[in-house]
Amino acid sequence: MKTYLRILNFVKPYWNHLSISIVCTILFAVFNGLSIYLTIPLLDTLFQGGQSQEGQPGIQINPSAAIGNTTSLLPDWVIKLEHNISDTFNTYVLQGGKIDALFKICLLVLIAFFFKNIFGYLQAYFLSYVEEGSMKDLRNAAYKHLHQLPMSYFKQERVGNLISRITNDVNVVQSSISAAFLNLIREPLTILVFIGIALSISWKLTLLAFIVLPFSMLIIAGIGLKLRKYSSAIQSKMADITSILQETISGVKIVKAFGMEGYENNKFKKETYSYFRMMLRIVRIRNSSSPITEFLSVIVGAVIIFYGGVLVIQSHTLKAAEFMGFLLAIFQTMPPIKELSTVNNRIQESSAAGDRIFEILDTKPAIKDEVNAHVLKTFSNSISFDHLSFHYDDSEELILNNINFEVRKGEIVALVGPSGGGKSTLVDLIPRFYDPSYGRILIDGIDIKQAKVNSLRALMGIVTQETILFNESIRNNIAYGLDDYPIEKIVEAAKTANAHNFIMELPEGYETVIGERGLKISGGQRQRISIARAILKNPQLMIFDEATSALDNESELLVQEAIERMMVNRTSIVIAHRLSTIRNATRIIVLDRGKIIQTGTHEELIRNENGLYNKFYEMQFRD
Ligand code: ADP
Repeated sequence: MKTYLRILNFVKPYWNHLSISIVCTILFAVFNGLSIYLTIPLLDTLFQGGQSQEGQPGIQINPSAAIGNTTSLLPDWVIKLEHNISDTFNTYVLQGGKIDALFKICLLVLIAFFFKNIFGYLQAYFLSYVEEGSMKDLRNAAYKHLHQLPMSYFKQERVGNLISRITNDVNVVQSSISAAFLNLIREPLTILVFIGIALSISWKLTLLAFIVLPFSMLIIAGIGLKLRKYSSAIQSKMADITSILQETISGVKIVKAFGMEGYENNKFKKETYSYFRMMLRIVRIRNSSSPITEFLSVIVGAVIIFYGGVLVIQSHTLKAAEFMGFLLAIFQTMPPIKELSTVNNRIQESSAAGDRIFEILDTKPAIKDEVNAHVLKTFSNSISFDHLSFHYDDSEELILNNINFEVRKGEIVALVGPSGGGKSTLVDLIPRFYDPSYGRILIDGIDIKQAKVNSLRALMGIVTQETILFNESIRNNIAYGLDDYPIEKIVEAAKTANAHNFIMELPEGYETVIGERGLKISGGQRQRISIARAILKNPQLMIFDEATSALDNESELLVQEAIERMMVNRTSIVIAHRLSTIRNATRIIVLDRGKIIQTGTHEELIRNENGLYNKFYEMQFRD
C-alpha cells in the first residue's frame, strides 16, 4: 500500500483534472440510476395499459413506504425526499393520458441516457489525462534520476533492465491507476445509487442480495496477495528479456562472428518460455476471481428471483413493475462489483511494478555539490594529484595507489602502460565520474570535491575511445550541449578536426542525420566528428582516450592531424596509443598496476633500456 500511495503522489499535480473527472463520475452515476429508475413507471404504464381509461389519472409511482413496506430502513429525510420526487413525478409526468405519459417517460429515459453517456465520456477523458500525465512525470523523474546516478550503478545494472523499468514497469503502473480510480470512485458510486434504488423498493430483497459480498471479498483478498508475488517476478523476467535483446542487438557483430545465433536464440526462447509460463499462472489467478464472484452472485440471484416472485404472485406486497425495476437495479450492481473484485489485484500488480521504478528513484545520486561549492571559471595554473588512491566500491583492491603528479597549464601529458594499469580510472577521476578513495585532485589549488560539478566539467573536453554519436544531425552532434550554435563555428571546428570534407560529401551535409539507414560513416570519420565536438566546446583542459582501433593509413593520418591541432594551446591529458602523441607529449607517465613507475619525456625514458617504458615502446609503438 505504501508503494501505491507513492504512485498516487504523481497524480497530485493533476488534482483539477481529477476533480472534474470525479464530478462527471458522480453525475454519471446519478443519470445511470435515473435511467433505470425510470423503467419502473415505464413498465407500470405498459403492464397496466388495459386497466385504466384514457384521460384518467394513470399509474402512480410509489415511494418505498407505500410498497407494503412499513418498516423501511431508510432515514426519514430520504423517505420525504422520495415522496417529494414521486409527487412531482406523478403530477408532471403521469397525469393525463397514458400515451401522453408513455411519451414523456420515454423522453425522460432518453434524456437520462444521453447525459449518462456524456458524463461517462467526460470522466473517462479527464481520468486518462490524469493517468497519462502522471505516468509521463514518473518516466521523466526516473530518467532525470538516471543522469544523477553514479557510474558504478550503470556497471552493476544491466542496461536492458533499466530500460525495461522505465518502459514496461511504468506501463503496468499506468494501466492500474485509472483502473483503480474508476473502481474506487465510479463503481462504488454506481453500486450505492443502485443499492439506494433497490432499498427504496424492498429492503428485505436487497439484504438478501448482499449476503454474498463478504464471501467474495475474502476470496479476492487472497488472490490479490498471490498476484503481487507473481507480478513482481514477471516484471523482472521482462527485464531479463529486454536485457538479452539489448545486449545481442548492440553486440550483433560478435554474435555473428562467433556463430552464436543458435545459442542466443535458445537463451532468448528459454526466457520467453518462462515468461509465458509465468504469465499463464498470473492469468489463471487473475481470471479466477471474476467467475468465482459471479457464480456466488448467480446463486443469490436465483434465490432473489424466487423470493421476489413469491412476493409478487402470492402475497401481492410488491408490484410486478417494481420487482422488475428491483431486478434491473440489482443486476446493474453486478458488473461494478465484479470490477471491484479486480481492484485489489491491479493495485497489487502496480505496486510490484512501482517498487521496481522506485528502486531507481531511491538510489542515491552519485555526487552532490557541497553547500558552498566553488564555481570554477577558468583553469590558470595546474592540476595536481595529491596522494591519490582509489578502489571501486565493490572491492578493496587499490586500482590507483598513491599517485602524485602535477600537470601545468599548456602541458601535454601522456599516460601509457599495460592494459589494466589504471589509466582510464585515473582520467575518470578528473571530471568526478568517481571520487578518490584517498587523497585529492586539485585544480589551481582547489580540491575538485569543493567545486560545482557542472563548472568543473565545463572546463574540460572529453574524447573517449568509443565515439558516441547520437541519432541527430551531424551539426547537432558536433554542437552537442551548445544550443543554436552558429554554423560557421561548427564548420570551423569540423575543418580543424579534418571532418569538413567528408561531411560535405554526405547527402545533406551538416544536416545529415547520423542514425539514418544506409548512412556509411567509417570509424575514423566518427572519431573526427567527436574530435570536432571537443574542439567546438573549446575547453581549456582536454582529456583524451585515444582509440586503439586500427584505421587505414589515410584515415590514421587525418585523425592524427586532428588530434595534434586539438591539443594546440591547451592542456591535455591523453591515454596515448599513437607514436606521434607520445613524441609530442611534454611528459609521459608510465602507470603499471596502479602505480607511477616512470615519468619523463620520450627521449629521457627511452634511454633507460631496462625501464618498463622501453619494453613497452618496443612492443606497442615501434613499427
Ligand atoms: P587501463 O585503462 O589502464 O587499461 P583501467 O583503469 O580500465 O585500466 O582498469 C584498471 C583496473 O580496474 C582493472 O583491473 C579493471 O579490471 C578494474 N576496473 C575497471 N573498471 C572497473 C569497475 N567499474 N569496477 C571494478 N573494477 C574496475
